[in-house]
Amino acid sequence: MAMLEIKDLEVCYGVIKAIKGVSFEVEQGEVIALIGANGAGKTTILHTVTGLIPSAAGSISFDGHDLKKVPAHKIVSMGMAHVPEGRRIFQQLSVFENLMLGAFTCKNKEQIQSDLKKVYGHFPRLEERKNQVAGTLSGGEQQMLAMGRALMSRPRLLLLDEPSMGLSPLLVTEIFDIIKEINEAGTTVLLVEQNAKKALEIADRAYALETGRITLSGKASELMNNEAVKKAYLGE
Ligand code: ATP
Repeated sequence: MAMLEIKDLEVCYGVIKAIKGVSFEVEQGEVIALIGANGAGKTTILHTVTGLIPSAAGSISFDGHDLKKVPAHKIVSMGMAHVPEGRRIFQQLSVFENLMLGAFTCKNKEQIQSDLKKVYGHFPRLEERKNQVAGTLSGGEQQMLAMGRALMSRPRLLLLDEPSMGLSPLLVTEIFDIIKEINEAGTTVLLVEQNAKKALEIADRAYALETGRITLSGKASELMNNEAVKKAYLGE
């Protein structure tokens, strides 16, 4: 049984069908990339998985549980954390306070301390800046904080929406190295990205989405050498 199983998913905004029968799976331990151009429906899929948008048809199961029956606020405690596009950190609060908000499902102080240590291990810059007001962090640091906050909920599955957005090439490389490191430490990752090159570099498998449909799928290493992928997504 796959950790996340999406079958024949359809999602509509009013009369417009944004997702037109999408199926894919995420196995435990994998990094899966969902690549696609602007408006392909990547964010819509993540929002449907986390219960923010209802589906019109199809099924989504996490560890064998039908997510349609789980309210959005319960999904975090099931072991899934979502880092939305645009980061949405609490701008007025400090870095430390933002991280603590990620730990809201945990009551054990020792566990919180040890999770915090792990997060600072992945993101030393957050420790250096723990008392800084989050709104004054750079774009890359805000991305790190959003990911760190998600990790504080001890997710088994981390959903990342466009972590490269607005970042310099150097920072993109740094963030993607950390995503790989987080995966190697045991967290399964579903990564939604327009930066197909970077996403395919760290993913095990990938799916390409075009106007609400999956058009290609396979091992990331194979897709990287696929002529259609090169032309459409890698600018080669
Ligand atoms: P991007 O990379 O630009 O974020 P995306 O692949 O994440 O794109 P979505 O944001 O999921 O794409 O959008 C998929 C389609 O659904 C687009 O045509 C978009 O205009 C439409 N859409 C998204 N949100 C809404 C909404 N709230 N109401 C109506 N249409 C929407």
